[in-house]
Amino acid sequence: MSTVPIAGAGFPPLNGIEAARGRRILRLSDQVLHRLGADLRSVPRYLIRYTILVLALCGLLNLWESQGDGRIPGLCPLRTLDPHRVSSLPCAAGGTSDDRRWQGLSAALAILDQVNPEVASWVRQRRQSAALVFSDEYCRGPDKQGSLAKYDHFRRTLIVQRALFEENDGEIAAILCHEYRHSRQNSAKLVKCALSFVVTADGDRSILENDALLYEHEARLAIFGR
Ligand SMILES: [Zn+2]
Repeated sequence: MSTVPIAGAGFPPLNGIEAARGRRILRLSDQVLHRLGADLRSVPRYLIRYTILVLALCGLLNLWESQGDGRIPGLCPLRTLDPHRVSSLPCAAGGTSDDRRWQGLSAALAILDQVNPEVASWVRQRRQSAALVFSDEYCRGPDKQGSLAKYDHFRRTLIVQRALFEENDGEIAAILCHEYRHSRQNSAKLVKCALSFVVTADGDRSILENDALLYEHEARLAIFGR
């Protein structure tokens, strides 16, 4: 059987249903193209609008951050105590009671009474207001500060991990200064740090950590003299 079309015969006429379907498809394609064209024309307008919004948000955050962190207490050199003693090592054992661990911070608090009394009283206030949590978790990852102690900005809580008690008294005092410095930070920095995780996968923790690390370094100088 031959499949060659007969010359002059053309295509067979479309029946009514197929013709109506064809017209509907053409009409829909036309509407989609029309909408797409309108959307593409409005892209620059959206870009300008969102750029202005982002710039305004950044400006507001910078203005908020410029309010500063308030007064940060200075540090005095340690006079009489030995910062190299490891006096609370037993508190690093799992299952140690909170009262025993609180006692374990006594030597570090005595150092802070000389070096930075405001940090010592801040830690005591945390304890009195039940905003000092002793965690029984044990983790010593690459982020040493995060694994020894942490300040929870949202709950305004100081969390002390049990590994902290393996450090000497002077080091514990310096780390408490680090967490105190976090507690004084303007919330704008917290928002900026959170937004940095939206922009990049790893975020930019230095927005929060730089202040605290610098203060911890100053505390270490005052405590150990180096
Ligand atoms: Zn920190």
